[in-house]
Amino acid sequence: MKTAIITGGSRGIGRAVTIGLAEAGHHVVINYAGNEAAAQDTLNAVLSNGGHGELACFDVGDEEAVTATIKLLAKAHGRIDVLVNNAGISVDGLLARFKAEDWNRVLQTNLSGAFHCLKAVTRPMMKQRYGRVINIGSVVAASGSAGQPAYCAAKAGLEGLTRSAALELAGRGITVNCIAPGFVDTDMTQALPEERRQAILDQVPAGRMATPEEIAAAVVFLASDGGAYITGQTLGVNGGLYL
Ligand code: NDP
Repeated sequence: MKTAIITGGSRGIGRAVTIGLAEAGHHVVINYAGNEAAAQDTLNAVLSNGGHGELACFDVGDEEAVTATIKLLAKAHGRIDVLVNNAGISVDGLLARFKAEDWNRVLQTNLSGAFHCLKAVTRPMMKQRYGRVINIGSVVAASGSAGQPAYCAAKAGLEGLTRSAALELAGRGITVNCIAPGFVDTDMTQALPEERRQAILDQVPAGRMATPEEIAAAVVFLASDGGAYITGQTLGVNGGLYL
C-alpha cells in the first residue's frame, strides 16, 4: 500500500485531500499542529470509510521534529510515496505596519515548512525511485494581494521551490508540482469579515468559492499514475479568478 503524508491534513483542504488519497488506496499520515480533536475526526472519517491512516502531530516549521518523524514513518512503512505540503497559515496586514515576527511566522510555516518536509522525503523517494510531491500554493503567488505581503511571498517562494526540486528529482521518478487554489470555503476564509468574503466572491468568474473536495481532486490526480509526466507545474484551481 502506498503511503501519503499530508501536512495540515486534519482540517479544510488538507482534510479533503486526506480523505481523497485514502479513497485512492493510500495509507494516510495526517499531520496537524495542535488541534487533536479535528485530526482524530478526520482519521475516524478515513477509518469508517474502510481506509488506513494514522496521526502525526508536529510543527512543519520545526526542522528537527519534521526530520525525526518522517524518518520514523519511512522506517515503519518501508516507503513514502506521496507528500502533500498543505499546512499553512495566513496573517494579514499592510506592509508599512507588518510585524517582522508575523513575517517570520508565515515564512516559517508556509515556505520553510514545505522545504523541511520535502528535504526529509527526498532520501526515501530517491531510494525507491518514485515519489509525488504536491505543494499547495495560492493564486496570490502570481496575482499579489494587498495586505498579504508575507503570505504572497511565501506562496511565490513555494512555486520556485517546486520548479527547482522538479528539475533536481525528475531523473529519479519523482514529480513535484504546485496547486494554486483561488478561494476555498474553509476555516481560513470563514475567518474573513462578511464584506471581504462578498468582495472576493464578486471577483470570481465562477461566482462561488471552491469546495475543499475540488482542490483535493486535483491533488489525487497529480498523485495518480496519470500524473507521472507532469512535473514542475503550477495548476490553478480558481474558478477563473486569475488567468
Ligand atoms: P485551514 O486553516 O482550514 O487548516 C490549516 C491546517 O494546517 C490545519 O490542519 C492546521 O492544523 C495545519 N497547520 C497550521 N500550521 C501548521 C504547522 N505549523 N504545522 C503543521 N500543521 C499546521 O487552512 P486551509 O485548508 O484553508 O488551507 C490549506 C492550505 O491551502 C494552506 O497552505 C493555504 O495557504 C492554502 N490555500 C487556502 C485557500 C483558501 O481559500 N482556504 C486558498 C489558497 C491556498 P491545526 O488544526 O492542528 O492547527
